[in-house]
Formats: sequence, structure tokens, C-alpha cells
Amino acid sequence: MLHSNQYNYLQGLNKQQRIAVETLDGPVLVLSGAGTGKTRVLTTRIAHLLVTGKSKPWNIMAVTFTNKAAREMKDRVGRIIGPSSEQVLMGTFHSLGARMLRQHCELIGLKSNFTIIDVEDQVKLLKQIISAKDVDDKRWPAKYFLNIISSWKDKGLTPSKITDNHIFEHSNGLIKDIYIEYQQRLLKSNCVDFGDLLLHPLELLQMNSDVLLKWQSKITHILIDEYQDTNTAQYLWIRLLCSKHNNICCVGDDDQSIYGWRGAEVKNILNFSNDFENSKVIRLEQNYRSTNKILDVANCLIKNNTNRLGKDLWTENNIDQDVEIFNSYDSSDEARKIGEIIEDKIRDKVHLTEIAVLVRTFSLLRAIEERFISIGLPYRVIGTKFYDRQEIRDAIAYVRVLCNPLDDLAFERIINTPRRGIGPTTIKKLSEHGRQNDMQLFHSAENIVNSEIFNNRTVEKIIQFINQIKKWKLLKNEKKPMDILDQVLEESSYYEMWKNEKSEEAETRISNLKELLEVISEFDTLEGFLQHVSLMTDNDVGNELGEVTLMTLHAAKGSEYQVVFLPGWEDGLFPSFRSLEQGGEDGLEEERRLAYVGITRAKKELFFSYASNRRINGIWMSSLPSRFLKELPKDITNKIDADDYSAYSLYDENVSYDYTQKFKNQGYGPGWKRMSELQINNVIDKNLPQLQKNSENDFQINKFVKGERVFHVKFGMGNVININDDKLDIKFDNAGHKKIQSNFVKKQ
Ligand code: ATP
Ligand code: MG
Repeated sequence: MLHSNQYNYLQGLNKQQRIAVETLDGPVLVLSGAGTGKTRVLTTRIAHLLVTGKSKPWNIMAVTFTNKAAREMKDRVGRIIGPSSEQVLMGTFHSLGARMLRQHCELIGLKSNFTIIDVEDQVKLLKQIISAKDVDDKRWPAKYFLNIISSWKDKGLTPSKITDNHIFEHSNGLIKDIYIEYQQRLLKSNCVDFGDLLLHPLELLQMNSDVLLKWQSKITHILIDEYQDTNTAQYLWIRLLCSKHNNICCVGDDDQSIYGWRGAEVKNILNFSNDFENSKVIRLEQNYRSTNKILDVANCLIKNNTNRLGKDLWTENNIDQDVEIFNSYDSSDEARKIGEIIEDKIRDKVHLTEIAVLVRTFSLLRAIEERFISIGLPYRVIGTKFYDRQEIRDAIAYVRVLCNPLDDLAFERIINTPRRGIGPTTIKKLSEHGRQNDMQLFHSAENIVNSEIFNNRTVEKIIQFINQIKKWKLLKNEKKPMDILDQVLEESSYYEMWKNEKSEEAETRISNLKELLEVISEFDTLEGFLQHVSLMTDNDVGNELGEVTLMTLHAAKGSEYQVVFLPGWEDGLFPSFRSLEQGGEDGLEEERRLAYVGITRAKKELFFSYASNRRINGIWMSSLPSRFLKELPKDITNKIDADDYSAYSLYDENVSYDYTQKFKNQGYGPGWKRMSELQINNVIDKNLPQLQKNSENDFQINKFVKGERVFHVKFGMGNVININDDKLDIKFDNAGHKKIQSNFVKKQ
């Protein structure tokens, strides 16, 4: 047998990392901060399991945060052990769940060609259900039900596990029936939603001891990255899977738990030692990613969280490179500055793939994209939903119907797109006919010839369409997926529909469809392509073209870049009011963890930026620098403008939107004072109809009158009830009475 120091891949690991890699039996938790090599430990561990012969590739299951991470891991393991790495079960929880489900779907009542639907279709289905049940959708909209159902699925609760306690407080108890019906309709359509990809596999193992035994015997070693963000359903599934061999290795960082709002339970990582007997906990503290300055910033910020295990990172990387904060007048100014710095970096030979701009919300990217376009800087936005575009959804709906004719949502989408004279009334009748005969739409349509519900012309149109679909389905045995889709879009006149529109937008749509054909050309089957599309995660796109990466902080988890920009560090944007309002102190701590994730993506250079004015939902707002900036080391924050800094005294301990009312500086943010007259005129002319300039070159708030209709970004429409100087008493249509400073509302 080889001595362990003969394994090359172990060289270069530090002592703790090596222990984590070599402890192959029993439960191991690697709990440590960002950039300490957790993911590297996992990868090396898989190689070690295989090289030592401890495990066969098909006996290992590794869970990653994105499919891209799984691919990278496979590549890295492949370099160490060769092509057998391909056989390791690697992927996200959802893709692994889908895999298990396809094998045993009949036990759940599904066929193996089931479709995975996304949020838009989930909402559509729920809308159909609540309208059939005559639910007041103003009071309880589809999204309300969707949130509750998703949170139950995250907890592993099937409809039969919902108790009175669960439905208490929810929509007078309607929710349970809706959940039951929703699940039934999904099954009938041979569809699952994202939550089902975990819920069904969990149920499979819980209800079928033979299936459980099979999987427990098969999987001898389980490895999980980013364990801090697992939800209860995932945890329960993993527990069941590993309870025979008990060889589980989880790595994670409690400080990077950022998916609480999506059901992640940080307690899974905190309770690991209690949950898994005889476990070993390993801490890594040396960071290999970032400079000491960047780590100082990260440590300094995150120690303000009370709810954490506590750990400090250190590094031997003492490059003397400052972390910088810059202030901008507004978002275009901020975008211009980012562009300039990047141009400098290009001159310094930094590769564009090594640069990232990370934001709290997508809306911040608009100005940045505009700037990058105007200076010709190549960039890619991660998470923009190519697959959400109308034409792409339409094309995919055709593919869905060819793969799964029971998929009513897809069938409904294409039956009259492009127009075939099969209108809503016909579809409604088809659907009723289907319900009476316990058939899905496609079969109902197929069956319609024998019924007398429609006149001959309508029947003819329907039959013609059904025959077309049947013909296209036959192509699956003859042609490549790309050629099938091309033919379908041609023969269905879908291309023609857009061509006839003769607009620039329609041309873009056609070129998007061509791009879709390119994607599909990489797959052997239409089913394989569908599975790929539905399991794509935000961060799955490669960067072959060498572009700057723009994405949200949430999507950035696990990644690293030489140069990182963090724009939009303003209170209200980051931390976001929404999280504070909904989550209180816990919400603030989750936002701080998100900030920590952002900071620790940077290897060498880090730039924070805040603007003094920001246009949010069409209204200009003065903004204060983020309270998180105040928590950074003093040698960095002393560069924040003194005026801005003094604004911190205005924060109230109670985190609330009301801080705007305490802001006494005439209602203007600090940035206003620094504006030149030219800038002022520009702003007034273009953007601030409610502000007027008076003779002293100062601002005066436009007068409002009682009873006037106004609009507020957050509270919506309302009427002015009372006026006290610049404070307005407003009765909002949906948010009740509020006292608001007049420059935060817009006349309507
Ligand atoms: P995160 O918490 O952000 O997911 P992580 O703990 O998973 O980070 P890795 O991504 O595995 O950290 O490693 C961070 C960087 O440090 C990578 O570039 C990795 O190659 C490098 N690294 C890890 N361990 C070592 C080591 N022992 N020697 C040199 N470089 C290392
Ligand atoms: Mg990692």
C-alpha cells in the first residue's frame, strides 16, 4: 500500500486540511471561514476516497451549490484520478433529487418523462386553482399560496403532514385544500415543481424501505459543500441516506448562511455534532484567497453579528494593497467610475474574467450595464433569465409537449401560439371535456372528434394541430434535437409569426431562438435538454469569452475574483429595508453575512461604493451610506465624506424605514450639498418635478394640497390628509396612515 505522502494531491494542504481529507470514516464537519479551502478539501477528499480504494466512484455522492461547481469538481477530481470521476454522483440537491426521482417515479405516481416547472408556471397553476375555487385573489393572491406551499416543501411537509397548527392563521384554512389540489394537478400533468425535487425523493425514502435500503447500500460516502444553506427537507433526505454507513463530510461556514429567506436552516450546521454521533469537527483558519487588508475588512464587519460561532481568518498574503471606498453623485457617476477603474485594470493586464461587480439587487446593474455598453466593455450578467423570455418559453413549451403530452401548462401555452383560431372559449371547453372524462388537455383534444361540443371547423383546427404534434413526436426517433425544434418552429409558423412583426424586437427574438438551437445542439435528446434547462442555477454559465462578471451577491457564493466591486452600499438598498422589515435583527444579520460573502470573494482588490442620490422606482432619493460601511476598519472609512459620516448619528437603534423622517437635513441627503448649480439644474429638469429651485440657489419643496393624490415608492398611492411644513400626513390606499417627508412622494 502506498504511503500517504506519496499522493501528490495531498501536498500543499495544511495540517488541518489534510486531517479533513484523510479522515474518511465517520461524520466530519469542516466549519470554517471563507477562502480557507473547504471546497478544495471536498474535492481532494473525493480523489483520496478513490485513490485509496476506500470507495468506488458510483458509491460517492457529492452535493454542490451550483451545477457549474459540480462540473469543476468533476474536472479537478478527473485530473487526479482520470475518467472514472465521471461516475461520481455530483450535482446540486435538485439535480440529484431529480435523478433519484426519475428512477422511482412510479412510486410517487409520476412517469419518467415528467417535466420540471418553474415559478411562472407554478403561479399560473395556482391561479387556475384559486379561480376554480372562487378564492378572493385580491386578498390571497396566487403568490401568497405559493410562498406558504414552498416553505412547507422546504420543511419536508407533504399535504398529509400538514396539521391544523400549520394552517392556523393562513387564509381561513383554505390553504390546505389548495395545497392538496395543487399537488394532484401536478401529478396529473406529470409535472413537478422545484420543491418536489426534494420533497418526493424524501417521501420515497420515508415510505419505501426497499428503496431506502438500496440507496443506503449504494451510497457509502456523502460530501456536502455549503452545508450552512441546507433546508430541512435536504437535511432529512441526507440523514436517511447516510444512516447505514454514516460516512458524511459536510463543509460550510455559519457566517455565509444567506438563504434563510428560502428556507435554509443554519441550525443544521450548528447542530451537526449532536445530529451525527462520533463526529469530528475541523476548523480551518488560514485563508488562501485574499490579502490581509481584505480579511481585516471581512473580520471587522462580521464580528458585529451576535448570532455566530465566531472565528477569525488570517493569511500569509501581506500584499500592500488598499481596500477602497468611493462616493458618487448618483448611479451613472458610480457606473462611470467603475468603468474607469476597470479600464485601468485592463492596462495593468488584469484579465476581465478576474473582475466581478456584485450587487444586492439586479436593479443596480442597469446603470452599470449602460455604461459598459457605451465604453464597449464586454460583460456578462449571471442570472438574467434567458429562459424567461417569451419566445424561449414558447419554444420550450413545444419541446415539453413533445416529451410529455400530459403537460397541460405547456399545451395551453402553444395551442394558439401562433394563432390557429383556437381561442379561450374553445380551450375552456376542451378543459371541461377533459375534466369530465379524466383526461389531460392533449387527450381531451385528441378525443374531441367523437364529441359534439364543437362545430366542424373548430374540430378540424384542433385535429390538425394534434396531428402536427403527433408527427413531430415521431421525429424524435429520426432526427437530432436541434433539427426537430427547428422544424417545429418552422412548420408551426412560429418563426413566421415574429418575422411578420418586422420590428427590431422581433428580430432579437428570432436570434434568441437561433441561440436556443445552439444550446439544444449539445444534447442527444429533447428530454436531456429539458432537464438541463429546468435545473440550471444562476451561476451555471461559463465565461469562455472573457468578460467582466455582473451578478447578485447571492449568486456569488463559492466564487473568487482578483478584483471585486461592491456598488450600492447605501442604507435601504444594503441592508435592504425589506429584509429589515421582515426579519428584524435576524434580517440585519443575514444581510451582514451577505456583505461578508461579497467582501470575501475578492482576492486582491476590493472597492466599495455608495451614491448620494439614487433613483428608485422612478423617484430620486437621497441616500445615506450603508451602516455596514461604518463597521469597517477606521483606516478605510476615514475616506467617507465627513458630511456623509455624520449622517450615521441619525440612525435609530430600531431598524425601521422611519429613519427618513428623522433625517433633518431639509430632507436632502448629504450629496445634495455638494452638487454644482449645473448638476442641480439637470436633476430638476430631468428627474425631480416635485422640487423647485428658489432664488438662493436652494431647494424648496413643491407645495402639496390636502386631498391631493400622491405616490410613494414603498406604500403606493394615497391621499394627502394633512400638511405640516414638509411633513405630510398621508392615507395610503393599501398601507394605512403614514407621516412622510414630502420629497419622498411624487405628485400624481
Ligand atoms: P468559500 O467559503 O468562499 O466557499 P472555501 O473555504 O471553499 O471558500 P476554496 O475555494 O476551497 O475555499 O479555496 C480558496 C482559494 O484558496 C482557492 O483558490 C484554493 O485553490 C486556495 N487554497 C485552498 N487551500 C490551499 C492551500 N493549502 N494552499 C494553497 N492554496 C490553497
Ligand atoms: Mg467553497
